[in-house]
Amino acid sequence: MSHAAAESVVMSTAAQNPAKRRVLVIEDEPDMARLVCLHLAELPADVRSEADGLTGLRAAREHGPWDLIVLDLRLPGMGGLDVCRTLRQAGDRVPILMLTARGSELDRVLGLELGADDYLTKPFSVLELAARVRALWRRSGEQTQNPSTDEPAALQRGALQIDRRQRRAWLHGTEVALTVIEFDLLWCFAREPGRAFSRGELLDRVWDTRHEGYEHTVNTHINRLRSKIGAGLIHTVWGRGYRFEEPRAEASS
Ligand code: CA
Repeated sequence: MSHAAAESVVMSTAAQNPAKRRVLVIEDEPDMARLVCLHLAELPADVRSEADGLTGLRAAREHGPWDLIVLDLRLPGMGGLDVCRTLRQAGDRVPILMLTARGSELDRVLGLELGADDYLTKPFSVLELAARVRALWRRSGEQTQNPSTDEPAALQRGALQIDRRQRRAWLHGTEVALTVIEFDLLWCFAREPGRAFSRGELLDRVWDTRHEGYEHTVNTHINRLRSKIGAGLIHTVWGRGYRFEEPRAEASS
């Protein structure tokens, strides 16, 4: 890590959030757990480690709030997918970074569908781990703490109401529980109704990455967002990507 990068992390943490970030690592391989904890602590963060799914889930619920959960998918006892699903079903929106084995494509897709925000495939570099974690925190924290002046604080699109500072959304007055990435996707679409976004554009704007093989991740998150806000709001534009259509207030599904 360069000196400048280390300094900026420390400074922004001190300026915006005097308390250290709290991270829960749920990983059963001792070497991997040690490596991840060591490097997260340098971000800096307070890190707690659990070695199986059930204990991890208990820690997630009883010792929070957490700023991040690093979740291995192959765990003894309760698997990572079940941990993720259980947390999301309970309305917990903590950023979740999955760790998956190379070649376990189905695990990744399922994990993202169940509510994980991002994934890393083992083996990964320490730099990549730090970059993904920072990107998640930047997304979940920056907009609430440093809203840029040219962005509206809130949007109303038909029956859909979106508050950027609180990072919350309501459909017909009922709150929709959105993860970090789902919220960013929705905001990106709702900012410019009618505009078609390619998957590459969405990766740039929402994921802040051009990571190889991420296109299917976009589809997965959009399907999840559709299942929460109604399938009729985000349309597939064949050969292009996706487009948000402003909901009509009187429309019923
Ligand atoms: Ca494992």
